Amino acid sequence: MKITNIRCVPVLCPRKRNFGGATRTALGVAAFSDYTIVFVETDAGITGLGEVDSVFKRRGALLRHDLTAALVPAVIGEDPFRIGAIMQKMDHALDGVEEAKAGIEMALWDIVGKALNTPLYNLLGGKVRDRVPLSYSIPFGDPKDMAELARERVKWGHRTVKVKVGSEDAARDVAAVKLIREAIGPDIKLRVDGNMGWQTAKQAIQVIREMEKQNLELVEQPLPAHDLDGMAEIRRNIGVPLMADESIRSPRAAMQVIRRQAADIANVYVTEAGGLLNASRIFAMCEAANMPCMIGSMPEFGIGTAAQIHLGVAMTNLGPDSDACGVLYHQEDLLKTPLRIENGFSYPPEGPGLGVEIDMAVLEKWNKAAQAAAR
Ligand SMILES: [Mg+2]
Repeated sequence: MKITNIRCVPVLCPRKRNFGGATRTALGVAAFSDYTIVFVETDAGITGLGEVDSVFKRRGALLRHDLTAALVPAVIGEDPFRIGAIMQKMDHALDGVEEAKAGIEMALWDIVGKALNTPLYNLLGGKVRDRVPLSYSIPFGDPKDMAELARERVKWGHRTVKVKVGSEDAARDVAAVKLIREAIGPDIKLRVDGNMGWQTAKQAIQVIREMEKQNLELVEQPLPAHDLDGMAEIRRNIGVPLMADESIRSPRAAMQVIRRQAADIANVYVTEAGGLLNASRIFAMCEAANMPCMIGSMPEFGIGTAAQIHLGVAMTNLGPDSDACGVLYHQEDLLKTPLRIENGFSYPPEGPGLGVEIDMAVLEKWNKAAQAAAR
């Protein structure tokens, strides 16, 4: 089989609004998801679907440029079964931009699954579990509003709530965590995500020690991605597990985090890792280091979320509840048949490959929105 063509379709989809405005975290403001849908076509008539998502500064049109200028030309003519070799070709064509590579890579797995007529999870080792338990993230807002949203999501079925912290107002962050704990009660797991918002280990330790009083499950990425010494210092000085997110984007980065004992848990992304192969390698490295992993979100649409769920049911060391429910953060999704996401769990589609189909009317609408925004 050969890859004959790759189409990259820009899309713009509004996020759900929170507290009367756009979603805010320590990473910035997000009103829309400016992503790209990827169609990888083959001479066998099988088309693989992928999604390019990013919340980081290189996103949207910049990643589309990376795709069309460097990655797509490197992949045309290749055999889609040779995923490792195609990853090497893409890495050779362009450093970094894992999110763009992941969009093509997940489409390759989709093609292989369709060709072998089996769901993607069977290509990743098969099911270890039937479903992926879900956390829900509460963005910045008035602490009372944040507590109300947390209560709603727990009522819906989440057994874990993640509070976005690391804002410039540490007292507000601490107050929000306290109010949310009161709102959700003692039995729901409560975690905080600094999204690299704190400047120094000392500052982070001081705030985390205040938040720990609310029986935290874990603390996620308090410091910038590169500051592994700072992460290790925090880890030694707080009473709850420390989870690396932005620090652990690639297998190479995972090796550094493990060597320098900079985290207890890893938040692994399909997108940040450059696809499912690298993500599964990070899972394996962490398992060898006795570190549980969870699956993180950008947040994805249905295609990318399906990839996460297939990974999630197949990885042996999936630990803390995952974020494999990006569609819940958007106003609508683009799948013909919605993913089964209910009562706090995501379930993998059972069709071949990713097992998802695109509703072309929604795709066209989102594409028009992207074109209008570009003018
Ligand atoms: Mg995070």
